[in-house]
Amino acid sequence: MSTNGFTTTILHSDRRLGTECGAVHKPVHPSAQYAFPQAEELVAVFQGKSGFSYARQGTPTTAALEAKITHMEAGLNTVSFATGMGALAAVFLTLLKQGDHLISSQYIFGNTNSLFGTLQNLGVTITLVDATDLEQVRAARRPETRMVFVESLANPGTYVADLAGIGEWCASEKLLYVLDNTLSTPWLCTGGSVGASLVVNSLSKHIGGHANALGGAVTDTGLFDWSAYPNIADVYRSGNPAGWGLTQIKKKGLRDMGGTLSSDAAHRIAAGAETLALRMAKACDNALALAQSMSRHPRVARVSYPGLDSHPQHERATQLFGGRYGALMAVELDDTVDLFGFLNRLQVFVLATHLGDNRTLVLPVAHTIYHEMGPVLRAQMGIAENQLRISVGIEDIDDLIQDFDQALG
Ligand SMILES: *Cc1c(COP(=O)(O)O)cnc(C)c1O
Repeated sequence: MSTNGFTTTILHSDRRLGTECGAVHKPVHPSAQYAFPQAEELVAVFQGKSGFSYARQGTPTTAALEAKITHMEAGLNTVSFATGMGALAAVFLTLLKQGDHLISSQYIFGNTNSLFGTLQNLGVTITLVDATDLEQVRAARRPETRMVFVESLANPGTYVADLAGIGEWCASEKLLYVLDNTLSTPWLCTGGSVGASLVVNSLSKHIGGHANALGGAVTDTGLFDWSAYPNIADVYRSGNPAGWGLTQIKKKGLRDMGGTLSSDAAHRIAAGAETLALRMAKACDNALALAQSMSRHPRVARVSYPGLDSHPQHERATQLFGGRYGALMAVELDDTVDLFGFLNRLQVFVLATHLGDNRTLVLPVAHTIYHEMGPVLRAQMGIAENQLRISVGIEDIDDLIQDFDQALG
């Protein structure tokens, strides 16, 4: 449709796809049902013609947002969900079966890790590997391996998996490659650029950006040959195979499980997404400056941020993300620092669990998001007991550096 750049395309997407009365936003459609003047049309929509029937399966407002996510990821098509977890659950539960094997990065979002327990109860076998090392991913391969799952930037450790190497290997092995791109966002790196088959984005994070709406999305990059995937039900094996995977995710995952994005949330996310590139650029620049400042502080033991030369995957991150490194960092304070005293003295940093917000957020990791996991698993995942996770926002950088320094004393 257009060869415009990232932001231009998003800004003009609704208008170009058509809105009433020249509205520049797709309206918020509250209707639960969509009526048809002719029986033939009603039947056609039920039998696969594009259109709307019942809002659990989408509305014009969610479809307009999906078109934007598809543009951002330079993908084929997108299905939206109520949350990022809704999107991930739909992918795993509709594309894996009892007896299948999943290879996953061991450095993953805590709730995804918890969801894996559910998958295991249903008879899916999972091998967790250090996906920064392609050899470990390859060594986990079994005859029944169906899927490889990684996150583009690991939360909170900031490890950067060998995204492109895994993509090439999955292509040669004909394995489904699912990338959770939430923390880098398609602005830093599209799933297709590293060979992913499906990309999951939590829209609640940077893409929405304002912490005022939850959402999730699955985008098909168009790179995977679904005709060779054994878990596609016969009923979805018709027409162009390029659409089979997302059709099954939409029917079995969205329609049957019902984790639908509301039109209202879709509108708020779409408005936030207009400035994704501007906000990400600022947040990434802030994060780098803050990481550099923190790493010079005598009471900071360690800063993990891919933009620092000291980061083990610094060069890989530079190649993948084009010279910006995301807004997330893990910081270990010196043992002598009273962790809670430090946190309670912060005035600009917000003590909150969210990520990818316009505001800078901080969390003591072991006591919160990884509390349920216990100390043994935490140590295995490389999570120190006095580690902070910081999601850097778009504030004025001097205010962030000053706040951190005054709280540390
Ligand atoms: C937050 C997050 C999710 C889940 O998204 P929700 O919208 O909160 O359900 C999944 N993956 C990653 C990497 C996340 O940061």
